[in-house]
Amino acid sequence: MNTEIQIVNPEFFQDAQLDRACEVLQSGGLVAFPTETVYGLGGNALSSDAAQKIYAAKGRPSDNPLIVHIGREEDLYRVAKQVDGQARALMDAFWPGPLTLIFRKTEEVPESTTGGMQTVAVRMPSHPVALALIRNSGVLIAAPSANTSGRPSPTKASHVQEDLWGRIDLIIDGGRVGIGIESTIVDMTEEIPVILRPGYITKSMLEDVVGEVRIDPALLAEEPGKDMVAKAPGMKYRHYAPKGRLTIVEGALEHVVSYINEILKEHEGRGEMAAVIATEESKSRYGTSCVYSIGSRKTEGSIAAGLYDILRQMDAVGAEYIYAESFQGDRLGAAIMNRMLKAAGYHKINI
Ligand code: AMP
Ligand code: MG
Repeated sequence: MNTEIQIVNPEFFQDAQLDRACEVLQSGGLVAFPTETVYGLGGNALSSDAAQKIYAAKGRPSDNPLIVHIGREEDLYRVAKQVDGQARALMDAFWPGPLTLIFRKTEEVPESTTGGMQTVAVRMPSHPVALALIRNSGVLIAAPSANTSGRPSPTKASHVQEDLWGRIDLIIDGGRVGIGIESTIVDMTEEIPVILRPGYITKSMLEDVVGEVRIDPALLAEEPGKDMVAKAPGMKYRHYAPKGRLTIVEGALEHVVSYINEILKEHEGRGEMAAVIATEESKSRYGTSCVYSIGSRKTEGSIAAGLYDILRQMDAVGAEYIYAESFQGDRLGAAIMNRMLKAAGYHKINI
């Protein structure tokens, strides 16, 4: 398949630049597009064929449901049932934005979109290009992250090209995305809302709007999947993973730096290629040239935004062993560490 690329400046674009993408979506094809979280791989959410094409292009297991992206609140009622006051309050507070809500699904949503589930995940993105694409096409867009299943999510168009070139119809290149980690997912089918995936919208932000919010116990387990199954099906799959063996080293920074420096010497002695994921503040403290700064500890947002790009760079440089500092920020720490632990296959050392 021939993949087209359309460059669009999110701050200044004309609707006509999205015409081709709208046509592709309307005729059942696949378009990768920027959102404020990561790039999405979009197809018609109400078409079973289009949903199946998404799974095929990504190599995604068919029981891992897709998020339906809408551009207007009234479209929610085409796909979701039993939307209550709490859900409406969350939508008022955070839509458009990086919050996905789970509801019971209507008949109109094919089971291939929801991975066979009777619930549906819905979000209204705030990225201007994403919103314009959904609104102008008139298509409700099922869109998982636009990466090959298992690889780090894409935060720029070149990541999408790496993974999906020749497998999809069109890529809209809108530059780097702002947030860099996927949306917060909240299950609204329970009496008390439950966070199924942490993200930019935190538990306390949700609680300010609706009172008590729970966290899926599987998210709190040291290693979910062993004795507990996550309620969001995607959380059980290995994800975001670089090809090398990633280890997260947690503890006081002094100790982390000296531990990693020791290990680097051992790898060097064996002729193995080892890399370090550090920060602006710590990068000069490692005895190797293979140190990559993920961002600054002064701005958690820069760490979230840099995470997937760094994990992809690890593959590009051929790192066989990767050691990462841990990032326990107040606001985004839970979301960042959730992704890093999955990328590391839960391989973490405390010192
Ligand atoms: P992605 O867009 O690649 O981040 O994947 C979307 C994630 O949303 C999946 O991994 C699922 O775990 C989650 N999800 C989508 N629909 C549902 C649903 N109906 N119930 C629970 N989790 C869902
Ligand atoms: Mg994904």
